[in-house]
Amino acid sequence: MNRKLRRTVIAGNWKMNLLASDVRSYADELNGLVPDFHDWCDAVACVPFTSLSAAIQAFNGSRVGVGAQNMSQHESGAYTGEVSGAQLNNLGVEFVIIGHSERRSIFGETDETVNKKIQSALCNSLRPIICVGESLDQREIGITNDLVAMQIKAALHGVQEECLRDIIIAYEPIWAIGTGKTATPEDAQDVCNVIRSVIRILYSEQAAQAMSILYGGSMNEKNAYDLLAQPDIDGGLIGGASLKPVTFAAIINAANQ
Ligand code: PEP
Repeated sequence: MNRKLRRTVIAGNWKMNLLASDVRSYADELNGLVPDFHDWCDAVACVPFTSLSAAIQAFNGSRVGVGAQNMSQHESGAYTGEVSGAQLNNLGVEFVIIGHSERRSIFGETDETVNKKIQSALCNSLRPIICVGESLDQREIGITNDLVAMQIKAALHGVQEECLRDIIIAYEPIWAIGTGKTATPEDAQDVCNVIRSVIRILYSEQAAQAMSILYGGSMNEKNAYDLLAQPDIDGGLIGGASLKPVTFAAIINAANQ
């Protein structure tokens, strides 16, 4: 990470875990463990839709940002079960994960829908956390860098440079998500560096240097320090280890380096 050039971001992805009634005690415990984290990083909790209101109330004043884990690509209308960017913004949501590999693989999201969701998020003053990453097969045949570059180009198609300050990118190798197999710091650094180069080519050196690029995939309190010590890894997107305040707080502390 390089705190002089860009913000460090530690974001939790609760996935489909915890109840709205769990949020208050989670927030109280986290605030007690890391009261001063905003001196060195931004923390975000991406919670299920049903917990968003509770999270916005519980984290109010603590400076933990609240995010959703998905949103509709559509603005409004007959899309039963979907939630729009305007609805999230109206609730007070600040961030939204877009293109998580579970959305791509289980729910059929494509690079095209990811791009539409990003455009809609930006139009509704939400900060997208864009997920990209390769499968194990793709890594083994040596196309990781090309694939991730293509995902970034597709995701940012039509996005103006002035919008980049609201965007966070998360490199999440699919084989590392929820598996306990973490990318080595060097491998994660290499891909985050490729992502920064793509931003440089698409936009500018300034845009590339200012972009916060996170690593996600079995990051925990034991491996966080070494991952976050890499020059192009500006934080983490954390699933399992974000579910307990004590492990999430340990990762937030690992970012204080
Ligand atoms: C994730 O869901 O984005 C993630 C990285 O999960 P985990 O930390 O559990 O691998």
